[in-house]
Amino acid sequence: MDVALGIDIGGTTVKSALVDRTGALIQKRSVRTESSAGHVKMAHDIAAMAKDMSKDLPDRCTVVGAGAGAPGPVEGRMLLGAVNLGWGETPLAQAIERSSGLPTVLLNDANAAALGERWAARSHGGDLAENLLFATLGTGVGGAIIVNGSLLNGAHACGGEIGHIPSGKSEKRVCGCGNLDCLETYASANGLLATANNLFVTNQVSAVPTCEELFERVKAGDRLATKALDDTIDLLARALAGIINTIDPEMVIIGGGLSAAGGTPIR
Ligand SMILES: [Zn+2]
Repeated sequence: MDVALGIDIGGTTVKSALVDRTGALIQKRSVRTESSAGHVKMAHDIAAMAKDMSKDLPDRCTVVGAGAGAPGPVEGRMLLGAVNLGWGETPLAQAIERSSGLPTVLLNDANAAALGERWAARSHGGDLAENLLFATLGTGVGGAIIVNGSLLNGAHACGGEIGHIPSGKSEKRVCGCGNLDCLETYASANGLLATANNLFVTNQVSAVPTCEELFERVKAGDRLATKALDDTIDLLARALAGIINTIDPEMVIIGGGLSAAGGTPIR
């Protein structure tokens, strides 16, 4: 049986998993991200996880290849940069391939997630979406766009980076990209929290330190917490509506930790 190695490189952890051809999870591991030690060390960590997981595989199983998602723009086999990792241009696919001995495909993490979700939707009985908008809401706001069956990578490998669409707001919130008031500075977990706490403080209500506590207030029917969430969803919806009207997708997928927080805020 053929088995594939999936790798998710994040700013905090590097996760890896072995999956079969149906996408079923066989094994998973994670290690703390040590980006300051460099990409070769990370590739060794990934190879070590793969080797460790392979030990428990039945004899007839073979790991045939690896697919890695990285938090930055990817062109071909090169990670062009990753702010979260403090890396510039990095030959990451080559390093993973050398360490693990597995043929390796490298993609931007949101692009990889979009392809995975698209594939999973088909495997659950649907048709493979030819045109798809994928948004991920978490610490940041990411995204990916598939048009006519292909990922839209763009001229600078930054296609689908919906988090940096101008929000139309003017609070001068500084984005990680260097611009002001990008969608991410409002529609991410931190952005939502900032919006809520601004409202709370203005109305002499105690601030909340986490999104979990904010959603507790929403559940309890708190007017200001609900307004912060509604305003955030409105900003996000306007941005997504602009893209939907541009690319005419048959499917929109919203993922990431914030999309399911406190019940289902995004419906
Ligand atoms: Zn930005």
